[in-house]
Amino acid sequence: MSLTRFNALQTMETRVDPFPVEFGEGPAEKIASYFGENVFTDEAMKKFLPENAYLSVKAAVQSGQKLTREVADDVATGMKKWSEEKGCTHFAHWFQPLTGKTAEKHDSFFNLTHDGLVIEEFSGSALVQQEPDGSSFPSGGMRSTFEARGYTVWDPSSPAFIMEVGDGKTLCIPTIFVTYGGEAQDYKLPLLRSQAFLDKSAVPVAQLFDSNINKITATLGWEQEYFVVDDALFSARPDLVMTGRTLLGRPAAKHQQLEDHYFGSIPERVYAFMRDLETESHKLGIPVRTRHNEVAPAQYEVAPMFEEINVAVDHNQLLMDLMERVARRHKLRVLLHEKPFAGINGSGKHNNWSMGTNTGVNLLSPGKNPSTNLRFLTFFVNTIAAVHKYADILRSTIAHAGNDHRLGANEAPPAIISVFIGDAMTKLLDQLVRDRKADGQEVKRAIDLISKLPNLEMDNTDRNRTSPFAFTGNKFEIRAVGSSQNCAAPMAAMNAMMGLQLVEFKAELDKLTAKGAKQDEAILTVLKSYIRKSKAVCFEGNNYSDEWKEEAAKRGLNNFATTPEALDVLSKKLAQDLYGKSGVMSKVELDAYHNVQLHTYCTKLSIEAKALEDIVHSMVMPAAIRYQTELATNIAAMRAIDMDDSLGYQKDTLKRVVSNIGDIREGLNELHKALEKLHEASDVREEAGILCHEAKPQMDKIRDAVDDMETLVDDQYWPLVKYHELLFVR
Ligand code: ADP
Ligand code: MG
Repeated sequence: MSLTRFNALQTMETRVDPFPVEFGEGPAEKIASYFGENVFTDEAMKKFLPENAYLSVKAAVQSGQKLTREVADDVATGMKKWSEEKGCTHFAHWFQPLTGKTAEKHDSFFNLTHDGLVIEEFSGSALVQQEPDGSSFPSGGMRSTFEARGYTVWDPSSPAFIMEVGDGKTLCIPTIFVTYGGEAQDYKLPLLRSQAFLDKSAVPVAQLFDSNINKITATLGWEQEYFVVDDALFSARPDLVMTGRTLLGRPAAKHQQLEDHYFGSIPERVYAFMRDLETESHKLGIPVRTRHNEVAPAQYEVAPMFEEINVAVDHNQLLMDLMERVARRHKLRVLLHEKPFAGINGSGKHNNWSMGTNTGVNLLSPGKNPSTNLRFLTFFVNTIAAVHKYADILRSTIAHAGNDHRLGANEAPPAIISVFIGDAMTKLLDQLVRDRKADGQEVKRAIDLISKLPNLEMDNTDRNRTSPFAFTGNKFEIRAVGSSQNCAAPMAAMNAMMGLQLVEFKAELDKLTAKGAKQDEAILTVLKSYIRKSKAVCFEGNNYSDEWKEEAAKRGLNNFATTPEALDVLSKKLAQDLYGKSGVMSKVELDAYHNVQLHTYCTKLSIEAKALEDIVHSMVMPAAIRYQTELATNIAAMRAIDMDDSLGYQKDTLKRVVSNIGDIREGLNELHKALEKLHEASDVREEAGILCHEAKPQMDKIRDAVDDMETLVDDQYWPLVKYHELLFVR
């Protein structure tokens, strides 16, 4: 009998206390009473900082003003006092290196003076800058050994917070991570630069419609999908432990075909986890609101209210971290991988993106009066034009090993980037471009048309779930982002794309008005030219269909199916123009980023390949051979008593086992050869190609044979926890 598997099942079934968190009877505590209690909020700042320090921090956030040393000291003192009252003994610079996870280095407030006295201190300089051991984080070759240091630098635009792990409490300071020369080595600095660039480029356009607008912030509301499995079962699957996904495993007879899980009732154990997670999130000021089952069994979603983009990204990173920790308290494991299980849906992270103004207006929301209508149309059409021009860049930002299993797999949008805008907007744009000239009459007509729009939010939200980039009434929803991914990369690209697009728009507009055109007419003229030019990227049909692939090719839209291909654009002029002109990444930073992404891809695939080899050799084959022997012994024994006639089943099965073992052997040999070839690869691009086109197909071949064997071999021998156990047993 397979001890590991059956022990794990037993452990799960005999759990004494599957609900470690007491929720108590009676009405729940109001969320408002603890929301943000672990955040150094505006209110806390007012209370713990001297007035001038408070105002300086606000100014730094608003306009990027530098803080003086004295102010930094005051802020550090206030933060320390606030956090000590809440039980913190340590502080940490919290950052988002290109590994995709968050990182933190803890230091205690406790210190010894030169004459041996114990003091508790936290200075302005410790708040503002730290030097973690940068050499263990990817730099893409930006750091040479003699300057291997990396620096974390305080980002005052995201509030400090307290991380509670068990009894330990740590004051966490959101930071960016840079080289000695100030080059970005993380996801945050490019994001912050993109936000600043979008602000600068969008304000002059927004001012065409309202002179009170002087600040524009990108907004993000993410929707996080994930799977939940039992901790004991997770631990009994070395592939889940090592790679976050099942490398082997036959889809269960019942998977999602009944669609009975979607919006079904949430299992009690998972519900307890969710409530615990929500409480922890709320304490950290993460405004999560929505929880529900997703399409696949054991799959769920959590989503917050949207926030300013920088804070939203931090909150998503924090949430992913919290999820893993809270789940373990409940003897559960959260799988954030894009494709933990074959044969059922994978997980994504929709990024709802829009732009908001200091006057409280959502620029992608159609308004009620004429000037807001034209404003809406301007930002709407410019977004489409930006996506048309920079689709390949957007594709590159969501390219990684996990997402390759999802994109184009008839459950997630394909790797072709297109925009869905809905019937009403499609008709409207069609009508607009029908007229060649844009005179006063036509401006009026256009504005009338927009005022007659139905409620787009109601109209569009669920219309087309197959589109990777959908307008959902008052925001665009970028649906191809992977569930494990940091939202910052696609969001920085969106901001940069939109920023450049708006700069171009303004320049074209200014040319026309300089020649005497009226502003509204000029706006409409430029927008109409954009609608015509970027029409190819708009698609309302079924993105999963094969016809769309053909049609998209005719329209000149790219379909990069794999990560290495999708990343290629980063070494091309399009990427250098976008990131360079917007100031989001320099050429050096971009090259390093490209390099790190390729390296990460190679590392992930190499780990998967090695894990697969190990599991097949040491777990699957012994079980298969044992069963093969049993069949052979039985056949021989039956023959010995002249029962040759009744050996049909045994022989058929034995033949299938033998043939599978043959395929596995071949697959393992070929896989091994491919991995050996890696040593001769001249660069990381070539390595990625070998892994993608030579190793991966062999892994699939091995999997096919093993999964077939899973149905044949005596269940008692099978060493790996099966899909129906992982997905349905609670
Ligand atoms: P659903 O997609 O589940 O129907 P909604 O469309 O209402 O739900 O919202 C999905 C996400 O979009 C939520 O996180 C929400 O906060 C976010 N969202 C709503 N408005 C905006 C906006 N203006 N900017 C960014 N995100 C937004
Ligand atoms: Mg949505």
